[in-house]
Amino acid sequence: MDVSDLYPLGLRVRGRLVVVVGGGPVAGRRVRGLLDAGAQVRVVAPGLTDHLAALVADGAVEHRAREYAPGDLDGAWLVHTATGVPAVDAAVADAADAARTFCVVASDAAAATAWVPAVTELPEEQVTVAVHAGRDPRRAVRLRDGIAAALEAGELPLRRFRPSDGSRDDGGPSPGRVALVGGGPGAPGLVTGRGRRLLARADVVVVDRLGPRSLLTTLADDVEVVDVGKTSGNHPVPQERINELLVEHALAGRDVVRLKGGDPYVFGRGGEELAACRAAGIDVEVVPGVTSAVSVPAAVGIPVTHRGVAAGFSVLTAHEAVAHVPGGADHTLVLLMGVTRLARTAEVLVTAGRPASTPVAVVEDGYGPRQRATFGTLGDIAGRAAAAGVQPPAVTVVGDVVRLAAGWASHSADGQAVSRP
Ligand code: SAH
Repeated sequence: MDVSDLYPLGLRVRGRLVVVVGGGPVAGRRVRGLLDAGAQVRVVAPGLTDHLAALVADGAVEHRAREYAPGDLDGAWLVHTATGVPAVDAAVADAADAARTFCVVASDAAAATAWVPAVTELPEEQVTVAVHAGRDPRRAVRLRDGIAAALEAGELPLRRFRPSDGSRDDGGPSPGRVALVGGGPGAPGLVTGRGRRLLARADVVVVDRLGPRSLLTTLADDVEVVDVGKTSGNHPVPQERINELLVEHALAGRDVVRLKGGDPYVFGRGGEELAACRAAGIDVEVVPGVTSAVSVPAAVGIPVTHRGVAAGFSVLTAHEAVAHVPGGADHTLVLLMGVTRLARTAEVLVTAGRPASTPVAVVEDGYGPRQRATFGTLGDIAGRAAAAGVQPPAVTVVGDVVRLAAGWASHSADGQAVSRP
């Protein structure tokens, strides 16, 4: 096939007869696709693959259990021939041509009057991409895969355009959807593909200070960005107002992404946002994210569990509650927020029975430009952090796993705070 002969088109085959000549794997794939699109399918072949035989047994397709014979194409809107026998395929193609019916020929693209593209579909988004690449079907498949990956990753603009009254072209007015997207600790590569995709089609993005803010530059100019940026100890937009914002925008028919740092459900108040949206009858999806509790320690080489060193971990905020967590050197504590309360937290932990010599790391701005790890022990970390001028956001790790950090050895050698590993 030469692409200059090609007229790309989508066919509505629902309820219309399509004849497939051949009963092998290629015919089977075609039948599957045709059934998915609602076609009425007749298969002509003496033998069938198990898959096709099962479809026949289910009554999903009509089967003429013999070689192709003239008349088999009667009533067809479209024909596929994939018998594996060039002479038979040619005869089918000739008969289809005589009947002015388009025909796909598996064995000889040049003899065909229709060609099957490599296809990727996002039914939820109502998007179908079909790729033809001349005489090189494998190139079409690779291109299709590349496009599918970009679509999945949210790198292509999937956003719907709809009238300003909020009505959709696929129905009457309807509320938008809300997605609570866990954005990971801040690096743009650490957000999930699902998160990227939802971001790519959002009308409104409600963001915090933490999370992958650099992704905001990828948004179209007319996407509204609402910054509810929380700084430590300072909540410019109260949670109730954030909940209202999500609901208001969705009720106005906009698709909203609530882009959150880390995971929405780890000290992220995602549950409250979910409940507020549900109470207003809005469709909500929660997309998990890479939590800073695990990833920020990892950024400086600290695994929160490690065979023979730590058998479990607890994630807490740096409040008095730390006293009630399992003790033991083999249980890692990960403390979010509260670097300003570090002295008090360390004291509480020692009072609760942890040795003052327990290793501690405070990791600031994980994956960000200011990433830095400061090491010490429960006994001296508060003083070291103060001396180093540690700033939020930071994750504090307590336990023997801290010794595995890239910077630990040099810390113990010279007693200094250690920068980037
Ligand atoms: N839902 C988030 C946590 C929100 S609480 C998550 O799962 O990661 C906010 C706290 O997360 C901060 O005070 C800090 O302790 C931690 N944090 C988030 N991102 C961070 C980063 N890039 N570097 C260091 N700490 C971070």
